[in-house]
Amino acid sequence: MRFLVAGAGIVGLAICRELQQRHPAARVTLLEKESAVGRHQTSHNSGVIHAGLYYQPGSLKAQLCRRGAGLMKDFCRAHGIPYQELGKLVVARDPAEAEKLVQLHERAVANGVPGIETMGPQGIREIEPHVHGVAAILSPTTAVVDYGQVAAKLAEEFVAAGGELRQARGLLGVRQGDTGIEAITDSGRVNADRVIVCAGLQSSRLARKLGHPSDPRIIPFRGEYLKLRDHAAHLIKGMVYPVPDPRLPFLGVHLTRHVDDTVSVGPNAILALALEAYRRRDISIADLAQTLTWPGSWRLAKQYWRVGVKEVASSANRRQFLRLARDYVPELCLADLERGPAGVRAQAVSRDGRLVDDFAFSGDRDVLIVRNAPSPAATSAFAIAEHVVSGILAGKVA
Ligand SMILES: Cc1cc2nc3c(=O)[nH]c(=O)nc-3n(C[C@H](O)[C@H](O)[C@H](O)COP(=O)(O)OP(=O)(O)OC[C@H]3O[C@@H](n4cnc5c(N)ncnc54)[C@H](O)[C@@H]3O)c2cc1C
Repeated sequence: MRFLVAGAGIVGLAICRELQQRHPAARVTLLEKESAVGRHQTSHNSGVIHAGLYYQPGSLKAQLCRRGAGLMKDFCRAHGIPYQELGKLVVARDPAEAEKLVQLHERAVANGVPGIETMGPQGIREIEPHVHGVAAILSPTTAVVDYGQVAAKLAEEFVAAGGELRQARGLLGVRQGDTGIEAITDSGRVNADRVIVCAGLQSSRLARKLGHPSDPRIIPFRGEYLKLRDHAAHLIKGMVYPVPDPRLPFLGVHLTRHVDDTVSVGPNAILALALEAYRRRDISIADLAQTLTWPGSWRLAKQYWRVGVKEVASSANRRQFLRLARDYVPELCLADLERGPAGVRAQAVSRDGRLVDDFAFSGDRDVLIVRNAPSPAATSAFAIAEHVVSGILAGKVA
């Protein structure tokens, strides 16, 4: 059996590992359009190993995040990759938010998240002495890791186990050949029996090229971070998150201590002008056209324009960003913040303007495309790989 996987982000790499484990005699080829693995979402994120609080019970996100978090920690332990269970507080700023916390707590319990506790202002102070709030949920097993490091280790293992990693080689299309599927790349052809596409931000573009349905389409949402300067980093011990807006798949601007002991503030969520727009000035006419010609984008904008305006304001103005963070850490001032990195989320939006909430796939066991793998897909990568290889490819799930 010959497998071809396109996209060496954390999802594609985890799928390759699962293929090698389940099919030791198979030939597995991994194509990556960049000159190294993990260059996009995998290395531009918050680095949180989510515990699974937020997701609709029974959804793929809920199931695969819970299982994936454990598998991710196992992998890190086995390979000496540092991760830290610093714990996360979801903090309510007022009684209305505290009421929403009750629902979040029920959801966390339904999802089997371990060690969840609720607390008032005193409890918050004991865990995060500089954080203010009227109530909070503590998830003690939420952890941080560097997913770029995980991806690099996966690539190393893949090659050591006989996998063929072809970097700087993009998949352009597929067609049925005499001896199976012929994958057309930007430098030659590769023959395979099964093709799995994990192209993140590029997945709906590839879906169209491979003749898969155009619905849903990936809309890129830029997420910008600020960082606490060294002198202010002591203000945050672990992770501090807002109570999420249940209508949105993004978790809101949060404060996160990372494995390298820096503390980030962010990300916001603003429409990106290119699929890989890491700098504010990055713009691609083709990518923008892909967003603007999609009816779902306009329907989405109509529903969420108020949220959008707020987020754009936070992007243009550091003070606005600070205001969000000071709701939780009143001591923070402008001099404590410096510019941080940015990432771009691949979020699928349906034709009718819905933000697709769950992980989604299209195709069949011959040509399968991962269509929506936003957060917590890094946390869930190993469980997504099991779902794809032992589930979809084995014909056990639709
Ligand atoms: C700002 C931000 C914060 C986040 N925070 C978290 C978090 O804290 N925890 C968490 O679990 N998740 C988080 N996520 C989500 C997480 O990063 C992604 O869900 C995950 O990285 C998706 O991995 P992927 O492999 O699908 O995509 P990617 O990492 O984007 O990889 C896709 C790969 O496909 C390649 N590719 C594209 N087109 C082609 C082609 N034609 N041929 C060959 N290769 C191709 C790309 O170059 C890329 O390497 C966050 C995301 C962002 C942007």
